[in-house]
Amino acid sequence: MTGNVTVVDHPLVQHKLTLMRERDTPSAVFRQLLREISLLLAYEVLRDLKTSLITVETPLAETEAPVLKGKKLCFVSILRAGNGLLDGMLDLVPSARVGHIGLYRDPETLQPVEYYLKLPDSMEDRSVVVVDPMLATGNSAVAAVQRLKEHGARTIKLVCLLAAPEGIKAMHESHPDVPIFTAAIDSHLDDHGYIVPGLGDAGDRMFGTK
Ligand code: URA
Repeated sequence: MTGNVTVVDHPLVQHKLTLMRERDTPSAVFRQLLREISLLLAYEVLRDLKTSLITVETPLAETEAPVLKGKKLCFVSILRAGNGLLDGMLDLVPSARVGHIGLYRDPETLQPVEYYLKLPDSMEDRSVVVVDPMLATGNSAVAAVQRLKEHGARTIKLVCLLAAPEGIKAMHESHPDVPIFTAAIDSHLDDHGYIVPGLGDAGDRMFGTK
Protein backbone atom coordinates (compact mmCIF):
# COMPACT_ATOMS: atom_id res chain seq x y z
CA MET A 1 0.00 0.00 0.00
CA THR A 2 1.41 3.41 -1.04
CA GLY A 3 -0.58 6.23 0.49
CA ASN A 4 -4.15 5.55 -0.49
CA VAL A 5 -3.14 3.09 -3.23
CA THR A 6 -3.12 -0.67 -2.91
CA VAL A 7 -1.23 -2.59 -5.60
CA VAL A 8 -2.66 -6.10 -5.77
CA ASP A 9 0.58 -7.92 -6.49
CA HIS A 10 -0.71 -11.49 -6.27
CA PRO A 11 1.21 -13.66 -8.78
CA LEU A 12 -2.00 -14.75 -10.50
CA VAL A 13 -2.99 -11.13 -11.07
CA GLN A 14 0.46 -10.25 -12.37
CA HIS A 15 0.57 -13.25 -14.71
CA LYS A 16 -2.84 -12.49 -16.20
CA LEU A 17 -1.98 -8.81 -16.54
CA THR A 18 1.17 -9.67 -18.49
CA LEU A 19 -0.92 -11.73 -20.94
CA MET A 20 -3.29 -8.78 -21.34
CA ARG A 21 -0.42 -6.40 -22.10
CA GLU A 22 0.75 -8.60 -25.00
CA ARG A 23 -0.40 -6.83 -28.17
CA ASP A 24 -1.39 -10.04 -29.98
CA THR A 25 -3.71 -11.33 -27.27
CA PRO A 26 -7.10 -11.77 -28.98
CA SER A 27 -10.13 -9.82 -27.71
CA ALA A 28 -11.91 -12.91 -26.40
CA VAL A 29 -8.89 -13.90 -24.32
CA PHE A 30 -8.39 -10.29 -23.21
CA ARG A 31 -11.99 -10.12 -21.94
CA GLN A 32 -11.72 -13.44 -20.17
CA LEU A 33 -8.47 -12.40 -18.45
CA LEU A 34 -10.02 -9.09 -17.37
CA ARG A 35 -12.97 -10.96 -15.89
CA GLU A 36 -10.65 -13.29 -14.00
CA ILE A 37 -8.49 -10.45 -12.69
CA SER A 38 -11.58 -8.54 -11.58
CA LEU A 39 -12.51 -11.44 -9.30
CA LEU A 40 -9.09 -11.30 -7.71
CA LEU A 41 -9.19 -7.50 -7.39
CA ALA A 42 -12.68 -7.67 -5.87
CA TYR A 43 -11.42 -10.09 -3.26
CA GLU A 44 -8.91 -7.47 -2.10
CA VAL A 45 -11.20 -4.44 -2.45
CA LEU A 46 -14.00 -6.04 -0.45
CA ARG A 47 -11.73 -7.31 2.30
CA ASP A 48 -13.18 -4.81 4.80
CA LEU A 49 -16.83 -5.77 4.29
CA LYS A 50 -18.58 -5.94 7.64
CA THR A 51 -20.03 -9.18 8.93
CA SER A 52 -22.29 -10.17 11.79
CA LEU A 53 -22.94 -13.53 13.36
CA ILE A 54 -26.03 -15.59 12.76
CA THR A 55 -26.97 -18.94 14.15
CA VAL A 56 -26.86 -21.86 11.71
CA GLU A 57 -27.47 -25.51 12.18
CA THR A 58 -24.89 -27.71 10.48
CA PRO A 59 -25.55 -31.43 10.11
CA LEU A 60 -23.53 -31.83 13.32
CA ALA A 61 -24.28 -28.88 15.58
CA GLU A 62 -25.71 -25.41 15.99
CA THR A 63 -23.08 -22.70 15.63
CA GLU A 64 -22.58 -18.98 15.20
CA ALA A 65 -21.20 -18.07 11.77
CA PRO A 66 -20.55 -14.77 9.95
CA VAL A 67 -22.65 -13.29 7.15
CA LEU A 68 -22.27 -9.98 5.34
CA LYS A 69 -23.97 -7.00 6.89
CA GLY A 70 -23.64 -3.24 6.71
CA LYS A 71 -23.83 -0.89 3.77
CA LYS A 72 -25.19 -2.34 0.56
CA LEU A 73 -22.72 -2.55 -2.28
CA CYS A 74 -23.01 -0.60 -5.47
CA PHE A 75 -20.63 -1.07 -8.39
CA VAL A 76 -20.36 1.86 -10.76
CA SER A 77 -18.88 1.18 -14.18
CA ILE A 78 -17.28 3.97 -16.14
CA LEU A 79 -18.36 3.11 -19.67
CA ARG A 80 -17.38 1.42 -21.70
CA ALA A 81 -14.23 -0.33 -20.52
CA GLY A 82 -15.48 -0.42 -16.93
CA ASN A 83 -17.92 -3.15 -17.93
CA GLY A 84 -15.02 -5.56 -18.33
CA LEU A 85 -14.21 -5.25 -14.64
CA LEU A 86 -17.86 -5.14 -13.65
CA ASP A 87 -18.72 -8.62 -14.92
CA GLY A 88 -16.27 -10.40 -12.65
CA MET A 89 -17.28 -8.30 -9.65
CA LEU A 90 -20.91 -9.22 -10.23
CA ASP A 91 -19.98 -12.89 -10.44
CA LEU A 92 -18.67 -12.51 -6.89
CA VAL A 93 -21.44 -10.28 -5.51
CA PRO A 94 -24.51 -10.92 -7.69
CA SER A 95 -26.79 -8.95 -5.37
CA ALA A 96 -24.86 -5.68 -5.71
CA ARG A 97 -26.62 -2.77 -7.37
CA VAL A 98 -25.00 -1.34 -10.49
CA GLY A 99 -24.64 2.21 -11.72
CA HIS A 100 -23.26 3.34 -15.08
CA ILE A 101 -21.58 6.57 -15.98
CA GLY A 102 -20.72 7.33 -19.58
CA LEU A 103 -17.71 9.55 -20.07
CA TYR A 104 -15.61 9.90 -23.17
CA ARG A 105 -12.32 11.66 -23.43
CA ASP A 106 -12.27 14.65 -25.71
CA PRO A 107 -9.23 13.73 -27.87
CA GLU A 108 -8.05 17.35 -28.00
CA THR A 109 -8.39 18.39 -24.36
CA LEU A 110 -8.33 14.88 -22.81
CA GLN A 111 -11.14 16.20 -20.58
CA PRO A 112 -14.11 13.93 -19.80
CA VAL A 113 -17.50 14.64 -21.37
CA GLU A 114 -20.50 13.00 -19.65
CA TYR A 115 -23.08 11.43 -21.95
CA TYR A 116 -24.89 9.00 -19.62
CA LEU A 117 -25.61 8.59 -15.93
CA LYS A 118 -27.86 6.01 -14.28
CA LEU A 119 -27.49 5.23 -10.59
CA PRO A 120 -29.48 3.24 -8.03
CA ASP A 121 -31.36 5.20 -5.36
CA SER A 122 -30.03 5.98 -1.87
CA MET A 123 -26.40 6.32 -2.93
CA GLU A 124 -25.67 7.82 0.51
CA ASP A 125 -26.40 4.45 2.13
CA ARG A 126 -24.25 2.40 -0.21
CA SER A 127 -20.64 1.37 -0.28
CA VAL A 128 -19.64 2.35 -3.81
CA VAL A 129 -16.93 0.69 -5.90
CA VAL A 130 -16.10 2.56 -9.10
CA VAL A 131 -14.54 0.40 -11.81
CA ASP A 132 -12.45 1.56 -14.76
CA PRO A 133 -9.52 -0.50 -16.06
CA MET A 134 -7.26 2.43 -16.93
CA LEU A 135 -6.47 5.28 -14.51
CA ALA A 136 -4.54 7.41 -17.01
CA THR A 137 -4.85 11.21 -16.65
CA GLY A 138 -7.39 10.54 -13.92
CA ASN A 139 -9.78 13.07 -15.48
CA SER A 140 -12.59 10.52 -15.99
CA ALA A 141 -12.24 8.98 -12.54
CA VAL A 142 -12.12 12.40 -10.88
CA ALA A 143 -15.25 13.51 -12.77
CA ALA A 144 -17.10 10.24 -12.09
CA VAL A 145 -16.36 10.36 -8.37
CA GLN A 146 -17.42 14.00 -8.30
CA ARG A 147 -20.80 13.11 -9.85
CA LEU A 148 -21.26 10.25 -7.40
CA LYS A 149 -20.60 12.58 -4.48
CA GLU A 150 -23.13 15.04 -5.94
CA HIS A 151 -25.62 12.15 -5.83
CA GLY A 152 -24.89 11.57 -2.17
CA ALA A 153 -22.26 8.80 -2.23
CA ARG A 154 -19.95 9.06 0.77
CA THR A 155 -18.09 5.77 0.83
CA ILE A 156 -16.28 5.30 -2.46
CA LYS A 157 -13.38 3.14 -3.68
CA LEU A 158 -11.82 3.07 -7.13
CA VAL A 159 -10.67 -0.14 -8.79
CA CYS A 160 -8.53 -0.16 -11.90
CA LEU A 161 -6.26 -2.57 -13.68
CA LEU A 162 -3.46 -0.16 -14.51
CA ALA A 163 -2.70 3.23 -13.02
CA ALA A 164 -0.35 5.97 -14.16
CA PRO A 165 1.33 8.17 -11.54
CA GLU A 166 -0.43 11.16 -13.13
CA GLY A 167 -3.87 9.60 -12.55
CA ILE A 168 -3.08 8.66 -8.98
CA LYS A 169 -1.91 12.22 -8.32
CA ALA A 170 -5.08 13.70 -9.84
CA MET A 171 -7.28 11.43 -7.71
CA HIS A 172 -5.34 12.21 -4.55
CA GLU A 173 -5.62 15.94 -5.20
CA SER A 174 -9.36 15.90 -5.90
CA HIS A 175 -10.55 12.94 -3.84
CA PRO A 176 -8.02 12.05 -1.13
CA ASP A 177 -10.79 10.13 0.66
CA VAL A 178 -11.09 7.57 -2.16
CA PRO A 179 -8.78 4.54 -1.87
CA ILE A 180 -7.41 3.20 -5.16
CA PHE A 181 -6.85 -0.48 -5.93
CA THR A 182 -4.82 -1.44 -8.98
CA ALA A 183 -2.89 -4.40 -10.35
CA ALA A 184 0.09 -2.21 -11.33
CA ILE A 185 1.39 1.34 -11.44
CA ASP A 186 3.02 1.96 -14.81
CA SER A 187 5.71 4.44 -15.84
CA HIS A 188 3.99 7.48 -17.38
CA LEU A 189 1.52 8.78 -19.97
CA ASP A 190 2.39 9.43 -23.59
CA ASP A 191 1.39 12.61 -25.46
CA HIS A 192 -2.06 11.15 -26.20
CA GLY A 193 -2.75 10.29 -22.58
CA TYR A 194 -2.08 6.57 -23.00
CA ILE A 195 -0.43 4.62 -20.22
CA VAL A 196 3.14 3.46 -21.02
CA PRO A 197 3.92 0.59 -21.23
CA GLY A 198 0.23 -0.08 -20.56
CA LEU A 199 -1.85 -2.34 -22.77
CA GLY A 200 -3.26 0.10 -25.32
CA ASP A 201 -6.89 1.17 -25.42
CA ALA A 202 -8.71 -1.14 -23.02
CA GLY A 203 -12.12 -0.61 -24.69
CA ASP A 204 -10.75 -1.32 -28.16
CA ARG A 205 -8.91 -4.39 -26.94
CA MET A 206 -12.03 -5.73 -25.19
CA PHE A 207 -14.37 -5.17 -28.09
CA GLY A 208 -12.08 -5.47 -31.10
CA THR A 209 -12.70 -1.88 -32.19
CA LYS A 210 -10.14 0.71 -33.25
N1 URA B 1 -7.48 4.52 -21.68
C1 URA B 1 -7.07 3.35 -22.19
O1 URA B 1 -7.87 2.52 -22.59
N2 URA B 1 -5.74 3.12 -22.27
C2 URA B 1 -4.83 3.99 -21.82
O2 URA B 1 -3.63 3.72 -21.90
C3 URA B 1 -5.28 5.21 -21.29
C4 URA B 1 -6.61 5.45 -21.23
